[in-house]
Amino acid sequence: MAASEDRVIVAGAGPVGLVATVSLLRQGIPVTLVERTPDLPRDLRASTFHPPTLDFLDRLGLAAPLRAQGLKCPLWQFRDRETGVVAEFDLGVLADETDHPYRLQCEQWKLTEAARAAVEDHPDGTFHTDFAVEDVGQDADRVTVTGVRPDGSRDTLHGRYLIGADGARSVVRKALNVEFPGLTIPEIFLSLSTPFAYHEAIPDLANISYISDPDEWLVLLRTPTLWRVLLPTDPSLSDDEILDPATVEARLQAVLPSDAPYEVAHKTAYRVHERVADRYVAGRIFLAGDAAHLNNPLGGMGMNGGIHDAVNLTEKLGRIWRGAADLSEMDRYERQRRKVAIETVQAQALKNREMLRESAPEKRAAFHDELRAITADPARHRAYVMRSSMLQSLHDLDRVA
Ligand SMILES: Cc1cc2nc3c(=O)[nH]c(=O)nc-3n(C[C@H](O)[C@H](O)[C@H](O)COP(=O)(O)OP(=O)(O)OC[C@H]3O[C@@H](n4cnc5c(N)ncnc54)[C@H](O)[C@@H]3O)c2cc1C
Repeated sequence: MAASEDRVIVAGAGPVGLVATVSLLRQGIPVTLVERTPDLPRDLRASTFHPPTLDFLDRLGLAAPLRAQGLKCPLWQFRDRETGVVAEFDLGVLADETDHPYRLQCEQWKLTEAARAAVEDHPDGTFHTDFAVEDVGQDADRVTVTGVRPDGSRDTLHGRYLIGADGARSVVRKALNVEFPGLTIPEIFLSLSTPFAYHEAIPDLANISYISDPDEWLVLLRTPTLWRVLLPTDPSLSDDEILDPATVEARLQAVLPSDAPYEVAHKTAYRVHERVADRYVAGRIFLAGDAAHLNNPLGGMGMNGGIHDAVNLTEKLGRIWRGAADLSEMDRYERQRRKVAIETVQAQALKNREMLRESAPEKRAAFHDELRAITADPARHRAYVMRSSMLQSLHDLDRVA
Protein backbone atom coordinates (compact mmCIF):
# COMPACT_ATOMS: atom_id res chain seq x y z
CA MET A 1 0.00 0.00 0.00
CA ALA A 2 1.36 3.42 -0.96
CA ALA A 3 2.18 5.68 2.00
CA SER A 4 -0.50 8.11 0.81
CA GLU A 5 -3.09 5.33 1.18
CA ASP A 6 -1.92 4.19 4.61
CA ARG A 7 -4.52 6.26 6.40
CA VAL A 8 -8.12 6.44 7.56
CA ILE A 9 -10.62 8.38 5.44
CA VAL A 10 -13.39 10.21 7.28
CA ALA A 11 -16.45 11.41 5.32
CA GLY A 12 -18.17 14.48 6.78
CA ALA A 13 -16.75 17.36 8.84
CA GLY A 14 -19.60 17.72 11.31
CA PRO A 15 -18.87 17.39 15.02
CA VAL A 16 -18.66 13.58 14.77
CA GLY A 17 -16.31 13.36 11.77
CA LEU A 18 -14.08 16.10 13.18
CA VAL A 19 -13.85 14.56 16.66
CA ALA A 20 -13.12 11.14 15.11
CA THR A 21 -10.37 12.74 12.99
CA VAL A 22 -8.75 14.51 15.95
CA SER A 23 -8.92 11.34 18.05
CA LEU A 24 -7.13 9.32 15.33
CA LEU A 25 -4.50 12.01 14.77
CA ARG A 26 -3.78 12.11 18.52
CA GLN A 27 -3.05 8.37 18.27
CA GLY A 28 -0.54 8.96 15.48
CA ILE A 29 -2.85 7.69 12.71
CA PRO A 30 -2.91 9.72 9.47
CA VAL A 31 -6.36 10.85 8.34
CA THR A 32 -7.91 12.39 5.25
CA LEU A 33 -11.16 14.17 6.12
CA VAL A 34 -13.50 15.06 3.25
CA GLU A 35 -16.41 17.48 3.38
CA ARG A 36 -19.06 18.24 0.77
CA THR A 37 -19.46 21.95 1.53
CA PRO A 38 -16.94 24.74 0.84
CA ASP A 39 -16.91 25.75 4.50
CA LEU A 40 -18.26 24.56 7.85
CA PRO A 41 -21.76 25.81 8.67
CA ARG A 42 -22.26 28.31 11.47
CA ASP A 43 -26.01 27.81 11.82
CA LEU A 44 -27.56 27.04 15.20
CA ARG A 45 -27.95 23.30 15.74
CA ALA A 46 -27.08 21.45 18.93
CA SER A 47 -26.12 23.77 21.78
CA THR A 48 -25.71 21.45 24.79
CA PHE A 49 -22.59 19.51 25.75
CA HIS A 50 -23.20 16.86 28.41
CA PRO A 51 -20.60 16.10 31.14
CA PRO A 52 -19.01 12.94 29.64
CA THR A 53 -18.75 14.61 26.22
CA LEU A 54 -16.75 17.41 27.82
CA ASP A 55 -14.56 14.83 29.59
CA PHE A 56 -13.85 13.14 26.22
CA LEU A 57 -13.21 16.47 24.47
CA ASP A 58 -10.82 17.48 27.26
CA ARG A 59 -8.66 14.43 26.52
CA LEU A 60 -8.45 15.61 22.90
CA GLY A 61 -7.62 19.21 23.87
CA LEU A 62 -10.96 20.46 22.55
CA ALA A 63 -12.89 21.28 25.76
CA ALA A 64 -10.91 24.36 26.87
CA PRO A 65 -12.07 26.59 23.97
CA LEU A 66 -15.67 25.52 24.61
CA ARG A 67 -15.45 26.16 28.36
CA ALA A 68 -14.02 29.60 27.59
CA GLN A 69 -16.95 30.46 25.30
CA GLY A 70 -19.81 28.50 26.90
CA LEU A 71 -22.28 28.88 29.74
CA LYS A 72 -21.87 26.38 32.62
CA CYS A 73 -25.31 25.15 33.67
CA PRO A 74 -25.45 22.72 36.60
CA LEU A 75 -29.22 23.12 36.95
CA TRP A 76 -32.03 22.27 34.58
CA GLN A 77 -35.76 22.31 35.11
CA PHE A 78 -38.93 20.56 34.14
CA ARG A 79 -41.74 23.15 34.29
CA ASP A 80 -45.47 23.43 33.74
CA ARG A 81 -46.38 26.27 31.38
CA GLU A 82 -49.13 27.48 33.76
CA THR A 83 -47.73 26.82 37.23
CA GLY A 84 -43.92 27.04 36.83
CA VAL A 85 -41.23 24.77 38.28
CA VAL A 86 -42.19 21.11 38.70
CA ALA A 87 -38.73 19.70 39.42
CA GLU A 88 -35.18 21.04 39.33
CA PHE A 89 -32.28 18.69 38.58
CA ASP A 90 -28.72 19.39 39.74
CA LEU A 91 -25.76 17.93 37.85
CA GLY A 92 -23.55 19.14 40.71
CA VAL A 93 -24.33 15.84 42.47
CA LEU A 94 -22.08 14.15 39.84
CA ALA A 95 -18.93 15.99 40.94
CA ASP A 96 -17.34 12.64 41.94
CA GLU A 97 -18.13 11.11 38.50
CA THR A 98 -16.97 13.76 36.04
CA ASP A 99 -14.66 16.75 35.72
CA HIS A 100 -17.62 18.65 34.24
CA PRO A 101 -20.64 18.35 36.58
CA TYR A 102 -22.75 20.65 34.41
CA ARG A 103 -24.20 21.00 30.92
CA LEU A 104 -22.20 23.45 28.87
CA GLN A 105 -24.42 25.62 26.68
CA CYS A 106 -22.31 26.40 23.65
CA GLU A 107 -23.05 26.38 19.93
CA GLN A 108 -21.98 23.27 17.98
CA TRP A 109 -20.02 25.34 15.43
CA LYS A 110 -17.60 26.45 18.16
CA LEU A 111 -16.58 22.80 18.53
CA THR A 112 -16.28 22.23 14.79
CA GLU A 113 -14.12 25.33 14.36
CA ALA A 114 -11.78 24.30 17.19
CA ALA A 115 -11.55 20.74 15.84
CA ARG A 116 -10.97 21.94 12.29
CA ALA A 117 -8.00 24.03 13.48
CA ALA A 118 -6.59 20.96 15.29
CA VAL A 119 -6.87 18.90 12.07
CA GLU A 120 -5.32 21.58 9.86
CA ASP A 121 -2.47 22.17 12.33
CA HIS A 122 -1.55 18.47 12.46
CA PRO A 123 1.11 17.21 10.02
CA ASP A 124 -0.80 13.94 9.46
CA GLY A 125 -4.17 15.62 8.95
CA THR A 126 -5.48 16.40 5.43
CA PHE A 127 -8.77 18.24 5.00
CA HIS A 128 -10.52 18.48 1.62
CA THR A 129 -13.59 20.71 1.37
CA ASP A 130 -15.82 20.74 -1.75
CA PHE A 131 -15.51 16.95 -1.92
CA ALA A 132 -18.92 15.23 -1.98
CA VAL A 133 -18.59 11.49 -1.47
CA GLU A 134 -20.51 9.80 -4.25
CA ASP A 135 -19.59 6.15 -3.89
CA VAL A 136 -17.53 3.87 -1.67
CA GLY A 137 -16.05 0.41 -2.11
CA GLN A 138 -13.63 -1.96 -0.41
CA ASP A 139 -11.55 -5.10 -0.88
CA ALA A 140 -9.60 -7.19 1.61
CA ASP A 141 -6.97 -4.50 2.24
CA ARG A 142 -8.34 -1.08 1.50
CA VAL A 143 -11.30 1.19 0.93
CA THR A 144 -12.01 3.36 -2.11
CA VAL A 145 -13.90 6.65 -1.90
CA THR A 146 -15.04 8.52 -4.99
CA GLY A 147 -16.02 12.15 -4.63
CA VAL A 148 -17.34 14.80 -6.94
CA ARG A 149 -16.11 18.41 -6.96
CA PRO A 150 -18.35 21.45 -7.60
CA ASP A 151 -17.04 21.69 -11.20
CA GLY A 152 -18.20 18.10 -11.82
CA SER A 153 -14.72 16.56 -11.80
CA ARG A 154 -14.16 13.38 -9.79
CA ASP A 155 -11.39 12.34 -7.38
CA THR A 156 -10.71 8.90 -5.97
CA LEU A 157 -9.06 8.33 -2.60
CA HIS A 158 -7.81 5.10 -1.05
CA GLY A 159 -7.28 4.32 2.60
CA ARG A 160 -7.20 1.44 5.05
CA TYR A 161 -10.57 2.24 6.65
CA LEU A 162 -13.50 4.64 6.13
CA ILE A 163 -15.66 6.31 8.76
CA GLY A 164 -19.01 7.51 7.40
CA ALA A 165 -19.89 10.56 9.50
CA ASP A 166 -21.74 12.24 6.67
CA GLY A 167 -24.94 13.03 8.53
CA ALA A 168 -28.61 12.11 8.29
CA ARG A 169 -28.68 11.56 4.52
CA SER A 170 -25.41 9.61 4.61
CA VAL A 171 -24.21 8.59 1.16
CA VAL A 172 -21.89 6.07 2.83
CA ARG A 173 -24.84 4.39 4.59
CA LYS A 174 -26.83 4.28 1.35
CA ALA A 175 -23.85 2.94 -0.66
CA LEU A 176 -23.62 0.08 1.85
CA ASN A 177 -27.36 -0.64 1.48
CA VAL A 178 -27.82 -0.32 5.22
CA GLU A 179 -31.48 0.09 6.23
CA PHE A 180 -32.43 3.09 8.39
CA PRO A 181 -35.74 2.08 9.94
CA GLY A 182 -37.80 4.24 12.27
CA LEU A 183 -40.32 7.03 12.10
CA THR A 184 -40.70 10.72 11.39
CA ILE A 185 -42.20 12.76 14.23
CA PRO A 186 -45.50 14.30 13.05
CA GLU A 187 -44.90 17.87 14.21
CA ILE A 188 -42.34 20.30 12.77
CA PHE A 189 -39.84 21.69 15.31
CA LEU A 190 -39.53 25.47 15.16
CA SER A 191 -36.36 26.90 16.71
CA LEU A 192 -36.31 30.67 17.33
CA SER A 193 -33.35 32.55 18.82
CA THR A 194 -33.70 35.93 20.46
CA PRO A 195 -31.57 38.25 22.59
CA PHE A 196 -34.62 38.72 24.86
CA ALA A 197 -33.49 38.13 28.49
CA TYR A 198 -35.91 35.42 29.66
CA HIS A 199 -33.74 34.94 32.78
CA GLU A 200 -34.54 38.52 33.84
CA ALA A 201 -38.23 38.31 32.95
CA ILE A 202 -38.71 34.96 34.74
CA PRO A 203 -36.34 35.09 37.76
CA ASP A 204 -36.72 31.40 38.80
CA LEU A 205 -36.08 30.12 35.24
CA ALA A 206 -33.11 27.76 34.80
CA ASN A 207 -30.94 28.18 31.70
CA ILE A 208 -32.27 24.84 30.42
CA SER A 209 -36.02 24.48 30.88
CA TYR A 210 -38.39 21.88 29.46
CA ILE A 211 -41.93 23.27 29.74
CA SER A 212 -44.93 20.94 29.53
CA ASP A 213 -48.36 21.98 28.38
CA PRO A 214 -51.41 20.10 27.11
CA ASP A 215 -51.76 22.49 24.15
CA GLU A 216 -48.24 23.68 23.34
CA TRP A 217 -45.13 22.43 25.11
CA LEU A 218 -41.87 24.31 24.61
CA VAL A 219 -38.19 24.35 25.52
CA LEU A 220 -36.24 27.44 26.60
CA LEU A 221 -32.48 27.09 26.24
CA ARG A 222 -29.97 29.79 26.97
CA THR A 223 -26.80 30.02 24.88
CA PRO A 224 -23.91 32.38 25.69
CA THR A 225 -25.50 35.17 23.62
CA LEU A 226 -29.14 34.30 22.92
CA TRP A 227 -32.13 32.37 24.21
CA ARG A 228 -33.51 29.59 22.00
CA VAL A 229 -37.23 28.87 22.01
CA LEU A 230 -38.23 25.48 20.60
CA LEU A 231 -41.91 25.06 19.69
CA PRO A 232 -43.83 22.18 18.06
CA THR A 233 -45.57 23.29 14.88
CA ASP A 234 -48.38 22.15 12.60
CA PRO A 235 -46.80 20.09 9.77
CA SER A 236 -49.53 21.06 7.28
CA LEU A 237 -48.12 24.62 7.15
CA SER A 238 -45.47 25.64 4.62
CA ASP A 239 -42.05 26.90 5.76
CA ASP A 240 -43.06 30.39 4.59
CA GLU A 241 -46.15 30.30 6.80
CA ILE A 242 -44.26 28.91 9.82
CA LEU A 243 -41.44 31.45 9.51
CA ASP A 244 -43.64 34.43 8.64
CA PRO A 245 -42.44 37.31 10.91
CA ALA A 246 -45.95 38.17 12.17
CA THR A 247 -46.65 34.53 13.05
CA VAL A 248 -43.29 34.19 14.80
CA GLU A 249 -43.96 37.38 16.78
CA ALA A 250 -47.41 36.12 17.82
CA ARG A 251 -45.97 32.81 18.99
CA LEU A 252 -43.26 34.52 21.06
CA GLN A 253 -45.84 36.90 22.55
CA ALA A 254 -47.92 33.86 23.51
CA VAL A 255 -44.92 32.36 25.32
CA LEU A 256 -44.32 35.57 27.26
CA PRO A 257 -46.11 38.85 26.51
CA SER A 258 -43.70 41.72 25.98
CA ASP A 259 -44.36 45.43 25.33
CA ALA A 260 -41.66 45.59 22.68
CA PRO A 261 -41.65 43.30 19.64
CA TYR A 262 -39.26 40.37 19.86
CA GLU A 263 -35.99 40.58 17.99
CA VAL A 264 -35.40 37.26 16.25
CA ALA A 265 -31.77 36.48 15.43
CA HIS A 266 -32.31 33.03 13.85
CA LYS A 267 -35.33 30.94 12.94
CA THR A 268 -35.37 27.39 11.60
CA ALA A 269 -38.17 24.89 11.07
CA TYR A 270 -37.11 21.26 10.74
CA ARG A 271 -38.48 17.75 10.64
CA VAL A 272 -37.32 15.32 13.28
CA HIS A 273 -36.76 11.59 12.80
CA GLU A 274 -36.27 8.66 15.16
CA ARG A 275 -34.14 6.15 13.26
CA VAL A 276 -31.30 3.71 13.98
CA ALA A 277 -29.26 2.03 11.22
CA ASP A 278 -29.49 -1.77 11.06
CA ARG A 279 -25.72 -2.04 10.91
CA TYR A 280 -22.91 0.31 11.91
CA VAL A 281 -20.11 -1.84 10.48
CA ALA A 282 -19.52 -3.31 7.03
CA GLY A 283 -16.00 -4.72 6.74
CA ARG A 284 -13.59 -1.76 6.79
CA ILE A 285 -16.34 0.87 6.70
CA PHE A 286 -18.03 2.20 9.85
CA LEU A 287 -20.97 4.56 10.47
CA ALA A 288 -21.14 7.10 13.32
CA GLY A 289 -23.29 10.02 14.47
CA ASP A 290 -26.35 11.13 12.51
CA ALA A 291 -25.35 8.76 9.70
CA ALA A 292 -26.12 5.93 12.14
CA HIS A 293 -28.93 7.31 14.32
CA LEU A 294 -31.36 10.22 14.52
CA ASN A 295 -33.54 11.29 17.41
CA ASN A 296 -35.54 14.25 18.58
CA PRO A 297 -33.52 17.02 20.28
CA LEU A 298 -35.39 16.82 23.64
CA GLY A 299 -32.56 16.01 26.04
CA GLY A 300 -29.75 17.13 23.75
CA MET A 301 -28.47 13.63 23.03
CA GLY A 302 -28.02 13.55 19.23
CA MET A 303 -24.68 15.31 18.83
CA ASN A 304 -23.47 14.06 22.23
CA GLY A 305 -24.28 10.44 21.37
CA GLY A 306 -22.53 10.88 18.02
CA ILE A 307 -19.38 12.17 19.71
CA HIS A 308 -19.49 9.17 22.07
CA ASP A 309 -19.67 6.95 18.95
CA ALA A 310 -16.61 8.72 17.52
CA VAL A 311 -14.59 8.16 20.69
CA ASN A 312 -15.59 4.49 21.05
CA LEU A 313 -14.96 3.78 17.36
CA THR A 314 -11.57 5.49 17.16
CA GLU A 315 -10.26 3.92 20.37
CA LYS A 316 -11.04 0.48 18.91
CA LEU A 317 -9.68 1.43 15.47
CA GLY A 318 -6.49 2.63 17.15
CA ARG A 319 -5.99 -0.80 18.74
CA ILE A 320 -6.60 -2.47 15.37
CA TRP A 321 -4.17 -0.07 13.66
CA ARG A 322 -1.44 -0.88 16.21
CA GLY A 323 -2.04 -4.63 15.82
CA ALA A 324 -3.42 -5.02 19.34
CA ALA A 325 -6.85 -6.19 18.11
CA ASP A 326 -8.36 -7.56 14.92
CA LEU A 327 -11.18 -6.15 12.81
CA SER A 328 -13.81 -8.13 14.73
CA GLU A 329 -13.29 -5.55 17.50
CA MET A 330 -15.52 -3.26 15.43
CA ASP A 331 -18.46 -5.62 15.84
CA ARG A 332 -18.38 -4.71 19.51
CA TYR A 333 -18.47 -1.04 18.56
CA GLU A 334 -21.71 -1.76 16.71
CA ARG A 335 -23.20 -3.80 19.56
CA GLN A 336 -22.30 -1.21 22.19
CA ARG A 337 -23.31 1.93 20.37
CA ARG A 338 -26.49 0.60 18.67
CA LYS A 339 -27.70 -0.48 22.10
CA VAL A 340 -27.10 3.03 23.49
CA ALA A 341 -28.86 4.60 20.48
CA ILE A 342 -31.94 2.45 20.99
CA GLU A 343 -32.13 1.95 24.74
CA THR A 344 -30.80 5.27 26.03
CA VAL A 345 -30.99 8.01 23.42
CA GLN A 346 -34.16 7.01 21.59
CA ALA A 347 -35.99 5.77 24.69
CA GLN A 348 -35.18 8.90 26.73
CA ALA A 349 -35.88 11.35 23.89
CA LEU A 350 -39.28 9.73 23.24
CA LYS A 351 -40.10 9.72 26.98
CA ASN A 352 -39.16 13.42 27.21
CA ARG A 353 -41.49 14.25 24.32
CA GLU A 354 -44.29 12.19 25.90
CA MET A 355 -43.94 13.98 29.26
CA LEU A 356 -43.91 17.41 27.63
CA ARG A 357 -46.93 16.92 25.37
CA GLU A 358 -49.21 14.74 27.52
CA SER A 359 -52.69 16.26 27.58
CA ALA A 360 -54.66 13.92 29.90
CA PRO A 361 -54.79 15.72 33.30
CA GLU A 362 -54.32 12.56 35.40
CA LYS A 363 -51.33 11.41 33.32
CA ARG A 364 -49.76 14.89 33.46
CA ALA A 365 -50.19 14.91 37.23
CA ALA A 366 -48.62 11.44 37.48
CA PHE A 367 -45.56 12.51 35.41
CA HIS A 368 -45.13 15.64 37.54
CA ASP A 369 -45.54 13.72 40.83
CA GLU A 370 -42.94 11.22 39.65
CA LEU A 371 -40.43 13.96 38.80
CA ARG A 372 -41.00 15.66 42.18
CA ALA A 373 -40.52 12.32 43.97
CA ILE A 374 -37.26 11.76 42.07
CA THR A 375 -35.73 15.11 43.02
CA ALA A 376 -36.87 14.67 46.65
CA ASP A 377 -34.89 11.42 46.97
CA PRO A 378 -31.08 11.91 46.67
CA ALA A 379 -30.40 8.37 45.38
CA ARG A 380 -33.12 8.57 42.70
CA HIS A 381 -32.07 12.12 41.78
CA ARG A 382 -28.49 10.96 41.26
CA ALA A 383 -29.58 7.93 39.22
CA TYR A 384 -31.80 10.17 37.05
CA VAL A 385 -29.06 12.69 36.24
CA MET A 386 -26.59 9.84 35.62
CA ARG A 387 -28.97 8.72 32.85
CA SER A 388 -29.97 12.13 31.49
CA SER A 389 -26.31 13.23 31.31
CA MET A 390 -25.49 10.01 29.37
CA LEU A 391 -22.86 8.98 31.96
CA GLN A 392 -24.83 5.84 32.80
CA SER A 393 -24.84 4.73 29.16
CA LEU A 394 -21.03 4.84 29.18
CA HIS A 395 -20.78 2.96 32.50
CA ASP A 396 -23.00 0.25 31.05
CA LEU A 397 -20.87 -0.32 27.92
CA ASP A 398 -18.68 -2.91 29.66
CA ARG A 399 -21.73 -5.11 30.12
CA VAL A 400 -22.06 -5.46 26.32
CA ALA A 401 -20.07 -8.49 25.12
C1 LIG B 1 -31.62 22.61 12.09
C2 LIG B 1 -31.06 21.65 13.08
C3 LIG B 1 -31.23 21.89 14.43
C4 LIG B 1 -30.72 20.98 15.36
N1 LIG B 1 -30.89 21.25 16.69
C5 LIG B 1 -30.42 20.38 17.59
C6 LIG B 1 -30.58 20.62 18.97
O1 LIG B 1 -31.17 21.63 19.37
N2 LIG B 1 -30.08 19.72 19.86
C7 LIG B 1 -29.43 18.58 19.42
O2 LIG B 1 -28.99 17.77 20.24
N3 LIG B 1 -29.25 18.33 18.13
C8 LIG B 1 -29.73 19.20 17.21
N4 LIG B 1 -29.55 18.94 15.89
C9 LIG B 1 -28.86 17.70 15.52
C10 LIG B 1 -27.34 17.85 15.58
O3 LIG B 1 -26.96 19.01 14.88
C11 LIG B 1 -26.72 16.59 14.99
O4 LIG B 1 -27.07 15.49 15.83
C12 LIG B 1 -25.21 16.67 14.85
O5 LIG B 1 -24.83 17.71 14.00
C13 LIG B 1 -24.68 15.34 14.31
O6 LIG B 1 -23.36 15.47 13.93
P1 LIG B 1 -22.77 14.64 12.70
O7 LIG B 1 -21.34 15.05 12.62
O8 LIG B 1 -23.11 13.19 12.87
O9 LIG B 1 -23.60 15.10 11.43
P2 LIG B 1 -23.66 16.54 10.74
O10 LIG B 1 -23.50 17.62 11.72
O11 LIG B 1 -24.88 16.52 9.88
O12 LIG B 1 -22.36 16.55 9.82
C14 LIG B 1 -22.27 15.79 8.64
C15 LIG B 1 -21.29 16.48 7.71
O13 LIG B 1 -21.14 15.66 6.56
C16 LIG B 1 -21.18 16.48 5.41
N5 LIG B 1 -21.63 15.64 4.29
C17 LIG B 1 -22.88 15.23 4.00
N6 LIG B 1 -22.89 14.48 2.92
C18 LIG B 1 -21.61 14.40 2.49
C19 LIG B 1 -20.98 13.74 1.40
N7 LIG B 1 -21.68 13.03 0.50
N8 LIG B 1 -19.64 13.86 1.27
C20 LIG B 1 -18.90 14.58 2.16
N9 LIG B 1 -19.46 15.24 3.20
C21 LIG B 1 -20.79 15.13 3.37
C22 LIG B 1 -22.15 17.58 5.77
O14 LIG B 1 -21.97 18.73 4.94
C23 LIG B 1 -21.78 17.83 7.22
O15 LIG B 1 -20.75 18.79 7.36
C24 LIG B 1 -30.05 19.82 14.94
C25 LIG B 1 -29.88 19.58 13.57
C26 LIG B 1 -30.38 20.48 12.64
C27 LIG B 1 -30.19 20.19 11.18
